Amino acid sequence: MTTRIAVPNKGRLQEPTLRLLREAGLNFETGERALTANAVNADVELLFVRAEDIPELVADGVATLGVTGLDLVAEHGDGLDVILELGYGRCRLAAAAPKDSPYRSLEDLAGARVATSHANTVRRFFSGRDIPIDLIPLRGSVEVSPRLGVADAIVDLVSTGSTLLANGLRELGTILSSQAVLVADPRRANGEVSRMATAFGAVVTARSKRYLLLNAPAGSIEAISALIPGLEAPTVVPLAEEDWVAIHSVVDASDVWHLLPKLKEAGGQGILVLPIDQVIA
Ligand code: AMP
Repeated sequence: MTTRIAVPNKGRLQEPTLRLLREAGLNFETGERALTANAVNADVELLFVRAEDIPELVADGVATLGVTGLDLVAEHGDGLDVILELGYGRCRLAAAAPKDSPYRSLEDLAGARVATSHANTVRRFFSGRDIPIDLIPLRGSVEVSPRLGVADAIVDLVSTGSTLLANGLRELGTILSSQAVLVADPRRANGEVSRMATAFGAVVTARSKRYLLLNAPAGSIEAISALIPGLEAPTVVPLAEEDWVAIHSVVDASDVWHLLPKLKEAGGQGILVLPIDQVIA
C-alpha cells in the first residue's frame, strides 16, 4: 500500500523538508504548483499542503505521516505522536509586550489581553500555570496588535527576535520551543511508519556527525583511540608501510574543532574530515 507523507507546500519548512526526503533516498520531481508527487523508487506519495493543515490531515488518516512544526502539532495535532525531531525550523513560541509596558515576566500577564495565532497552546500554557489571561485569537499580524490597541501583549513565533525589536516589543518568556518534526497517528502505526522514521533519522543523525580518517604510527593507536572512540570502536587498518596504521572513526561535528590539534599531538597525520550521508546505529 502506498504511504502518503504530507509535507509543507510553502514557507520556511518547505525547502529543508524536500532536501531531507531526497537525502533519505526518495527520488521525486516537484512542479511549481503540484499538489502531489510520487517517488519513482519507492511506494511513497507526497502530498503538498499548508504546514498548518498537516496535523489534521494526519489525524484524519488522509496522510500516514506528516512533516510540520512542533508548534503546529501542539496547536492542531491532539493525539498525534512526534516520532522524530528533524533539527531544522527551530524557533520558539514566545510572549512579548511593548518595551514601555509594565510587563516583565509571564506572570505579569495575569489579566492582560494576549493576542496569538496559537490560541489552544497559549490557553493550555497559562491555565496550567494558573495565570488568567484574556485570550485574543488572531490569524495574522499578531506583532502589530499591541500598537493597534487590540492587545496588551502577544504570543508569537520568534527565531532571532528582530521582528519583535522592529515592532518595539520585549520578550517576556518562552511558551514552547519548536522545530520541524515527523508526526504520525499512533492508531495507524505500522512497519512503514517505523521504516520512514529510521530512514529520516539516519539523515538527521548523520548531519551532526563527521567521518574522520588519519594515519599514525602503531605506537599512537591507544592514545588516538581514546580521543575518537567512534560508534563502538575505531577501525584500525595496517598501512603498507610497516608499523603505520590508518584509523577511521565517527565523531560529533561539534567536537572536530577541539579534536584536530589533539589528534596531531598524539601522532596523527594526513587527517581527513568527511561528511556522512546517513548513520543507522
Ligand atoms: P511559515 O514559514 O510561516 O509557513 O511557518 C511554518 C512553520 O515554520 C511554523 O509553524 C514554525 O514551525 C516554523 N517557523 C516559523 N517561523 C519561524 C522562524 N522564524 N524560524 C524558524 N522556523 C519558523
